[in-house]
Amino acid sequence: MPDVDAIVVGAGPAGAAAALELARAGRSVYLLERGPFPGSKNMYGGVVYGRILDTLVPGWWDEAPVQRWVTRRATMIMTGHQALTVDFRTESWGRPPYNGATAYRPDFDAWLAGKATDAGAVLVTSTTATGLLRDGDRVVGVRTDRPDGDLTADVVIACDGVNSFLAKEAGLYPHTDPANFTVGVKETIALPREVIDERFGVRGDHGVDYEIVGCTGDVPGGGFLYTNTDTLSVGLVLSLPALAAGGTRPEELLRRMKEHPAIAPLVEGGEVKEYSAHVIPEAGYDMMPELSCDGMLVAGDAAAMCLAAGIWLEGVNFAIGSGAAAGRAAARALQRGDTSNEGLAGYRSRLESSFVLADHRKLRDAPHLVMSDLAQRQLPGLACGVAERMFRVDNPEPKPGLRRILRQELKRNGVKVRDVVSHSLRALRTFG
Ligand SMILES: Cc1cc2nc3c(=O)[nH]c(=O)nc-3n(C[C@H](O)[C@H](O)[C@H](O)COP(=O)(O)OP(=O)(O)OC[C@H]3O[C@@H](n4cnc5c(N)ncnc54)[C@H](O)[C@@H]3O)c2cc1C
Repeated sequence: MPDVDAIVVGAGPAGAAAALELARAGRSVYLLERGPFPGSKNMYGGVVYGRILDTLVPGWWDEAPVQRWVTRRATMIMTGHQALTVDFRTESWGRPPYNGATAYRPDFDAWLAGKATDAGAVLVTSTTATGLLRDGDRVVGVRTDRPDGDLTADVVIACDGVNSFLAKEAGLYPHTDPANFTVGVKETIALPREVIDERFGVRGDHGVDYEIVGCTGDVPGGGFLYTNTDTLSVGLVLSLPALAAGGTRPEELLRRMKEHPAIAPLVEGGEVKEYSAHVIPEAGYDMMPELSCDGMLVAGDAAAMCLAAGIWLEGVNFAIGSGAAAGRAAARALQRGDTSNEGLAGYRSRLESSFVLADHRKLRDAPHLVMSDLAQRQLPGLACGVAERMFRVDNPEPKPGLRRILRQELKRNGVKVRDVVSHSLRALRTFG
């Protein structure tokens, strides 16, 4: 007899959602976490899109540990000395059912894992799964770093985050290419709440999300700036191979972005409380592993489910969505007494019929588009150049007209019209 019905490895959002669904289905489940508490080891940019919780934790907004509700979303395109911002705000995101919220991961992950334990899952902290237990090809449990710490189960769900060595050990990742990964670095900067309200033009518990393009120098990537109650989260996401080849350290690139004239006044006078870094599975659909084998499922970042599509960086909601689907599929397979690969196939079909694989498939090309030289360097120069010329008054010269400005700026930025057209068509197909 196995020790429990299911073992979930990793108490991040994916693992907590999987354990919650299994426990609610009446299954015995261990939720293993290497940190002293859920979220203690976890970092991210800072915005959770909570609507995925509507059915999992009805009324979640009344109890989730939120810093601010995002009611202003700005996309900033910058060059070394210019910035062009599309700044959207809506009051409707500041009331139920809300849209995005800034939250600290130690608070959020601990809260969500608490839902799983309330439902009956057993959380085992400060315990690392060090490998898989097998019976032939079948996964039958995990090895842990506790003395006599082998644990057996009918099904294991690997939610151990990016670079999941459990998924690799199970042979689910055929290969790992560094080009599929980015590294995220972040500073948490303390500022008084009233200063944040004033600088960002928000009141009460409303907050701001800036996504930034053109801020990473020679390294393809992007930046972000989010408001918490009395801190800012400021960071960069950087292509891993380009970072390694370029020789400039991520802290230096982040320092440069913070010194940009469009960012410096927002962060000025703040005290850096924390610096953290983490790898992101950037390539989405194109890098996903096999999602199951006999006795095992993979969910969340462990299965590269994070959506990194330029204007969207969504991992927590995809982790919850895939974790919950894995938990439900495992519960169903346990009920039928078949946790073989075939018995667990419901997992993939649940993902196929949900936003998780629908969005990933649709946005498959987005990471490539966003990381292209055109999007990273040439278009920011072009957009900022056109804006500067359109708004500049060169009297006594008459206004040059948009067509002439465009022609000159295309040339100045070395942008070919045919590249813009083919890029735009690809973008339309992807985002349209
Ligand atoms: C810089 C950066 C910015 C980001 N910004 C955002 C954002 O603003 N919004 C958003 O939605 N997403 C964002 N993401 C993505 C998001 O953080 C991830 O997609 C999400 O955390 C994935 O959840 P998960 O549960 O799959 O994995 P994780 O959150 O990584 O959780 C994995 C858990 O498993 C535990 N673990 C790992 N190995 C073991 C083991 N062997 N044994 C036991 N426990 C183990 C870890 O301690 C951890 O608790 C960002 C990521 C980064 C790096």
